[in-house]
Amino acid sequence: KGIAERFGAIRRGLTVGEGDLRSLEIRFANTPIYDEAVREALLLHADFDRVREIVHKIRGGEIEVVIHRSEETPTPLAYPILRRYVEAPELFSPEAEREEILNRMRLHLSSEPVHLLCFECGHFHEEVRIGEMPDHPECAKCKSRLLTVLGWAAWTVRDAYAKRARKLDLTDEERKLLTRAKQVADLVAVYGKRAVYANSVYGVGPTTASKILAKMQDTEKEFLNDLFEAKLKYVTTRPYWNAPQAKPKLY
Ligand SMILES: [Zn+2]
Ligand SMILES: [Zn+2]
Repeated sequence: KGIAERFGAIRRGLTVGEGDLRSLEIRFANTPIYDEAVREALLLHADFDRVREIVHKIRGGEIEVVIHRSEETPTPLAYPILRRYVEAPELFSPEAEREEILNRMRLHLSSEPVHLLCFECGHFHEEVRIGEMPDHPECAKCKSRLLTVLGWAAWTVRDAYAKRARKLDLTDEERKLLTRAKQVADLVAVYGKRAVYANSVYGVGPTTASKILAKMQDTEKEFLNDLFEAKLKYVTTRPYWNAPQAKPKLY
């Protein structure tokens, strides 16, 4: 951060949160700022003497090297490294591949099935492919456009909707799920298929989706690019300890 300030890339004395601090690494990748940061870190902050000592002790048998292989979950040390690769392999490809990435993203999104729940009549549409939807999807039963997009939590939301319709008591969790689902349904009613796309992108909730949709991008490419940027932002700034949020799909 100090180096980025010295280069004049960010304002001096700016308070940067933990998540933003981490994103600096990505924002300044392949720039002299990044190179300088790595050089200084190695020169000033790496304890070479200590590393040498450890290596010596390992050679001399004073320190025993134990290999720990975790079968189920990554170890705490490996987790932050692995997570980024798993969630956003795009982060590690050059900018020139952006076009190809957007194409892949479109293909993936349009072929993945989602479930739709009608907020007008409660009709549940199972496994509908986004790519096969009309620009303004309608409920097969009542023709309403008030449809919400659901992923793995689909049946929980459907049951909560049914409970609400029968005026039964809802848990806080069910209430939360329904509110979120209704926000998505409002977006689908207004923006149609694009809203379905937006809400199927990993890390894009109804609030972010609403901002992106309101930009009314002229081309599909611009639209996908905005979705992609939102996903990147989510993946690169989310603190490690946050559990993955309930999202329709993992793209
Ligand atoms: Zn229209
Ligand atoms: Zn309906």
